[in-house]
Amino acid sequence: MNQRKKILITGAAGFLGSHLCDRFMQEGFHVIAMDNLITGRMTNIEHLMPSERFDFYRQDVSKYIHVPGDLHYILHFASPASPIDYLKIPIQTLKVGSLGVHHCLGLAKEKGARMLIASTSEVYGDPEVHPQKESYWGNVNPVGPRGVYDEAKRFQEAMTMAYHTFHGLETRIARIFNTYGPRMRLNDGRALPAFIGQALRGEDITVFGDGSQTRSFCYVDDLVEGIYRLLMSDYVQPVNLGNPDEISILDFAKEIVALTQTDQQIVFKALPADDPKQRRPDISVAREVLDWAPTIQRAEGLKRTYQYFRGLSVEELHLMEHKNFDQFIVK
Ligand code: UDP
Repeated sequence: MNQRKKILITGAAGFLGSHLCDRFMQEGFHVIAMDNLITGRMTNIEHLMPSERFDFYRQDVSKYIHVPGDLHYILHFASPASPIDYLKIPIQTLKVGSLGVHHCLGLAKEKGARMLIASTSEVYGDPEVHPQKESYWGNVNPVGPRGVYDEAKRFQEAMTMAYHTFHGLETRIARIFNTYGPRMRLNDGRALPAFIGQALRGEDITVFGDGSQTRSFCYVDDLVEGIYRLLMSDYVQPVNLGNPDEISILDFAKEIVALTQTDQQIVFKALPADDPKQRRPDISVAREVLDWAPTIQRAEGLKRTYQYFRGLSVEELHLMEHKNFDQFIVK
């Protein structure tokens, strides 16, 4: 029998990390899940804990990491990922993107493992080219509120490519566009959980600015399929993964109001600094190299996501509302 493949997933208790754990468990891998639980939650992965093929380490990837025995793949998905989170924990965001990726790359080199990093459409900043192709270098403000995330991810790409060219490490770079689905944190500040949470609590829906800014939302299952294909491919350059179906935030808010059948009012609030005006992936590379494109329409994806949030217990909703970062902050 072939040796079972072992994969380390950092950020495993987070939104994307936990869905990746599910997928690689389904594929028969031995999954080593790592998370410091600063933004992740054990409830996202507790169903996997009984398996002998699943190990969980509560560990900060920004500190030295070690995994005993063989290791074939690493997915580096640990990072706060929403503007509210980076404002609260900016230094941790920078550290996990820089020190964290360095530790993962060092481990990959020691084990001869293939490593894929979760990069982001944020490397394009407030883009002046539309839609965004991988060849566009971006328009990022390094010292703005999003800089801690954007620059960490840009550094992460540079570091990963350096390990590839200098050490010959097998590396993959996914540039992930807005993704949504079950297990997002209701209070992570992103548009979709914010709107659904407001609808569930009977509050006004807060659209920032005039809502004319656009995003392109990809359902999590499509994204996971893209990540899987990229990991198994031999393509080393960055690949955009996202759904090109672009919508204004105001129209998106209206879709959520219609979906939740609450006739909540839409109110307008100040637009946060450096909020990108437009965002849509050009996915020609993913189509060509991975034969990948999203298959789940927004109407279907939103329905599934809403079902998840509606099914949460009052306690779970309460817990999500009171996530406290203070214990993690080293002054
Ligand atoms: N947004 C909004 N109301 C909210 C939360 C977000 O209008 O309560 C806007 C936000 O300003 C941005 C868009 O929705 O223009 C998407 O925000 P999100 O945080 O989901 O993702 P990102 O800006 O990182 O793409």
